Amino acid sequence: MSDDHLQKVVSLAKRRGFIFQSSEIYGGLKSAYDYGPLGVELKRNISNAWWSSMVHAREDVVGLDAAIFMHPKVWKASGHLAEFSDPLVDCLNCGGRFRADKAPQIEAGTEVTFRAGGRSDGEERSGKVGERGYVCPLCNAPDLSKERQFNLMFRTSIGPIDPLEKAIHEIARAQMGAGEIRRKIEEALKPSSIYLRPETAQAIFVQYQNVQQSLGMKVPFGIAQIGKAFRNEIITEKFIFRTCEFEQMELEFFVEPGSHEKWLEYWAEQRMSWWKNFANSPEKFRLRPHEADELAHYASACYDIEYAYPWGWDELEGVASRTDYDLKKHSEESGAKLHFFDQQKTDPATGKAGVRFTPYVIEPSAGLTRGLLVYLLDAYAEEEGQDADGKAKVRKVLKLHPTLSPIKAAILPLVKKDGLPEYARKISKEFFDAGINSRFDEQQSIGKRYAKHDEIGTPYCITIDHQSKEDDTVTIRDRDTTEQRRIPASTAVEFVTGALSSTSAGATSVG
Ligand code: ATP
Repeated sequence: MSDDHLQKVVSLAKRRGFIFQSSEIYGGLKSAYDYGPLGVELKRNISNAWWSSMVHAREDVVGLDAAIFMHPKVWKASGHLAEFSDPLVDCLNCGGRFRADKAPQIEAGTEVTFRAGGRSDGEERSGKVGERGYVCPLCNAPDLSKERQFNLMFRTSIGPIDPLEKAIHEIARAQMGAGEIRRKIEEALKPSSIYLRPETAQAIFVQYQNVQQSLGMKVPFGIAQIGKAFRNEIITEKFIFRTCEFEQMELEFFVEPGSHEKWLEYWAEQRMSWWKNFANSPEKFRLRPHEADELAHYASACYDIEYAYPWGWDELEGVASRTDYDLKKHSEESGAKLHFFDQQKTDPATGKAGVRFTPYVIEPSAGLTRGLLVYLLDAYAEEEGQDADGKAKVRKVLKLHPTLSPIKAAILPLVKKDGLPEYARKISKEFFDAGINSRFDEQQSIGKRYAKHDEIGTPYCITIDHQSKEDDTVTIRDRDTTEQRRIPASTAVEFVTGALSSTSAGATSVG
């Protein structure tokens, strides 16, 4: 898969109404995207498929939809205020900024060449890679600033009072130096500071007790959540792969200490097979265990589910064993007793019934918007074909799994006359009544309509022609094989419903 493949998907996403740059008419806001009419359907279909498999299909998982704003102490207890940062480096040659941990590793002392100012017409220079073992990923220069930690949380303030007003008066009256001004401002902002959540997980830990008690859940059990998360990323990149506003699908699964290794393997395997189930190329997903030095401070073990993106293997989901770190930290900070009392067990120390423990947590944490990119990349294909006159033509097709396709069936009258649109509208209504997202489409030639629906991943095109009026049959065209066959008009809904309930990747063949 080449970078060209990414560019083709980016262009299709805009042209066909999947994804637009945020605030585009004002020049666009870097790193934020809007999901257009087809994008919102695709995103919902992915999140619904996740929710069905993680919540509806299981007795041991329940859902949550928590607020984005949370008490600031949540982020103190979780360690995000102190630790949720990336190492930021400035390039002294081109002025670019990058994450030290994402820069390509090169052995210290290696001689590298680069262009002055990072400009293609700049003078060629050379230098040696420093002790830290990397160069600027933008211009290859080894002249770099020190690493400094940059907190990724977005901060804002809550309440009707301007927190800075008083500080501004004081700063104006006393002639303060830069350091003192910063301290004053920090002091003024602190009481009303609030953060946009950088992950959905913490709300689940904070509501652990309410959920466990209100539903009488018994360990092992899980709480699932889908929602927005925000990170002030140093570099936003690769379309919707890394953005400042994105969506996550997270499960926190609470288990008895000692059983966590087994559950980690279980969830890593479950999540891998879920992603692959909707993909055309399952071999492009892999499970990579973290090295000890890669582990987050709270994790005892972790897998990354990676995808073979056009730029190489990279993360799609993390499946981490988080120990009892989060529940313990929130217990300490809040005073709430976030444990589980198992009445079925006997305490070996006292011989009495009931054992109390703080559950360990296994966390499969997936990017919804990143997953959407993965399925677009997986689905986009170009095939050699012929046009109506037999000339060679490239067919662009989005081979989305029918469960994920934004539109499940296109209802197409062959021509805009002779009563065919009226006939087609009747079939369209049957699809509406059955709750299947279909589209009546009478614009342009039938060939152009097929091409459009191939490109947006519609698995079935149902065409109403003159014969339909005579014998109540329609043709149904399969997106992937382009084969067509005639079926009774009255079975069109049944055909599509049957195909949608199939769980195999790719559309059910018409032939
Ligand atoms: P990375 O190393 O790429 O910065 P991470 O390890 O910090 O990611 P997690 O905190 O484990 O990511 O988040 C879980 C999932 O959320 C990721 O696997 C990814 O799919 C998604 N995600 C995280 N950050 C972003 C982002 N800035 N934009 C889009 N999706 C993201």
